[in-house]
Amino acid sequence: MINIVLFGPPGAGKGTQAENLKEKYNLKHISTGDLFRYNIKNKTELGQLAKSYMDKGDLVPDEVTIKMLNAKVEEHLDSKGFIFDGFPRTKAQAESLNELMESKGSQINAMIALEVPDEVLVERLLERGKTSGRKDDANEDIIRNRIKVYYGETEVLKEFYKKEDKYYGVDGVGSIPEITARISKVIDSL
Ligand code: AMP
Repeated sequence: MINIVLFGPPGAGKGTQAENLKEKYNLKHISTGDLFRYNIKNKTELGQLAKSYMDKGDLVPDEVTIKMLNAKVEEHLDSKGFIFDGFPRTKAQAESLNELMESKGSQINAMIALEVPDEVLVERLLERGKTSGRKDDANEDIIRNRIKVYYGETEVLKEFYKKEDKYYGVDGVGSIPEITARISKVIDSL
């Protein structure tokens, strides 16, 4: 198995890149944001709980998020590996992901972090908000809160993966194919 954590602030392009990479490397793409949105759309209990956090741009509690992620991985153990997009976002999530992978006799091979300046992020998210229908993309204050939450709670995970010698930074500014090529170079070197 090859398991990649695709990392970066909101608007860095994780979802877009994951879509390209999953085809190229035949990996299962798991986006916790997409899973929450699916639950909201289908009016599940989990969706209702997640919505109150997501609408503000805050993180959904670890316990709920980890349980949902673990269940999704269990469903796809036959795959060649995973691209995790938007997970982990806290140290507890990263530790839990390591435990999960270990329990499957596997591991996270790399964290690939897309680097994009904050002002570009805000611009991209406001642009996406015109068509995404996402409440959390439609308001600049909520967008800025999401970026703040990233720096406050999530960015520390770079250190977590650096310690494990699994951190790879990639310039996330450029055309979509250019960035796919940069990420592919890292994956091919693993
Ligand atoms: P995303 O689609 O990755 O931008 O996520 C959208 C929203 O879903 C985030 O702002 C959080 O409210 C929630 N979310 C997604 N992934 C996680 C996670 N790993 N931990 C906690 N909340 C999450």
